[in-house]
Amino acid sequence: MEAKRKSAHQLAREIGNGQNTARRLTEEGLKRCKNLNASLNTFTFIAENEALEQAKRVDKMIAAGEELPLAGVPLAVKDDFCCSGLPASLGSAAFKNFVSPYSAAAVEALLEAGCVLIGKTNLDDMGMGSSTLSSPFGPSLNPWSTEYAAGSAGAAAVSSGQCLLSLESDTGGALRLGASHCGIFGLRPTPGRISRYGLSAFSSSFSQAGIAAANPEDIGVALEVLSGFDERDVSTVLCRELPQEKEKDIDPGTITIGVWDGDGDRQSSANRDLISQTGEKFRQGDFKISEISLELFQETLRAYYIVAFAEASSNLSRYDGIRFGEAAAARNLDELYEQSRRCTFGKEARRRSIFGTVLLGKDRFEPYYRQALKIRRLFQEEMARVFKQCDLLLLPVVKNLAPLIGREAGFIDQYEEDYYTAPISLAGLPALSLPAGTIENMPVGLQLVGPPLADDLILKVAAGIAEGLSIPPIAVRPGRDS
Ligand code: GLN
Repeated sequence: MEAKRKSAHQLAREIGNGQNTARRLTEEGLKRCKNLNASLNTFTFIAENEALEQAKRVDKMIAAGEELPLAGVPLAVKDDFCCSGLPASLGSAAFKNFVSPYSAAAVEALLEAGCVLIGKTNLDDMGMGSSTLSSPFGPSLNPWSTEYAAGSAGAAAVSSGQCLLSLESDTGGALRLGASHCGIFGLRPTPGRISRYGLSAFSSSFSQAGIAAANPEDIGVALEVLSGFDERDVSTVLCRELPQEKEKDIDPGTITIGVWDGDGDRQSSANRDLISQTGEKFRQGDFKISEISLELFQETLRAYYIVAFAEASSNLSRYDGIRFGEAAAARNLDELYEQSRRCTFGKEARRRSIFGTVLLGKDRFEPYYRQALKIRRLFQEEMARVFKQCDLLLLPVVKNLAPLIGREAGFIDQYEEDYYTAPISLAGLPALSLPAGTIENMPVGLQLVGPPLADDLILKVAAGIAEGLSIPPIAVRPGRDS
């Protein structure tokens, strides 16, 4: 696909000024997607007819003189977002045949801006994971080496050139970890910047819509399109406070990047090397660097999981087989609940439904749930202090390379993979995962974290050093065993 070599905003410009057509690019793109999907399993559904229809619509609008910031840009959408008339599995075998009657607000906004929706991308069991290994559709493979999982199928779709933008969800890190594993950029914005209407969020306070792309500028264009007040999602009321004026060009000399002075044994030497190399790039770009200490970070992963379990259990309770979820044959109400949940939930969703219910029970509410909320507040306060010492903070994203296909770790080990990403969700901060280098020929990212509403600053700063960072998108590299 020719589009692969170009950025989304360049491509939209070409289509806008008549150098190219959405129709032509979509036809080429679909071919490429189908070919790559056979080896990567990134898409749960390729929306061929709908994509061609939308491409025709875009060409017509351009011919009529309309300006579309993302004209003809091939878009992938994670399968926990609803798109009218398309399947939405939500990562559950029970919803494989569910067709959504309406579109998520974020999907509507991207289509209005001219994007061409190529298809829905794979995800873990009801979105609960950062590997795709628990998907009822089987895992998505990493285009850098098919021995490894993609982490996020949307990130793999961008990295392999199947699309130029991917609409993702990020609860405790799925988008950021996937972007890191696939060598691209992934933004989890400030909660409230993008409407979650039509996103099946398993955790009401952590799950957010985010964007993956091969460069920070494309994420910036998409964020502008996506960000705004939506009366269907009350958290977007925050967008009413956004400054109307766009942030001007930044002066690196006035921006301090904080680097963590270390977290004992946890930060691997590979991560430390990446941080010091990337810190050096910031220094060369005239940014200031300052060492920062974090006291509470190590306590936060457990707090994240306690709250995430509790919220998952209440969100999952709607799948009772009466209004939502597969209605199983049953002799009485209890059996209906039990059997319906058994066929709607995979292993991980079942685990969270049970653990979450236990954690919210009378005896555990105070010592677990309430304590976790306390840690959340204290950590938010600590991060607010940190952002008095620096403008943005550079942190690792991953503890390890992407999981190997066929060697699924135990669930506690899987939760540990969110060690660097979940705390940022807990604190409600925006973060961009950016490609920082490779380890054993696999890409590894770092995250640039900011105070609430620093999304645009994060993207501008990343763009300032992106030249020296970008790992070019790759087609597909077979694993050792293939
Ligand atoms: N791995 C994390 C969890 O399972 C995050 C998943 C996500 O971001 N979707 O809660």
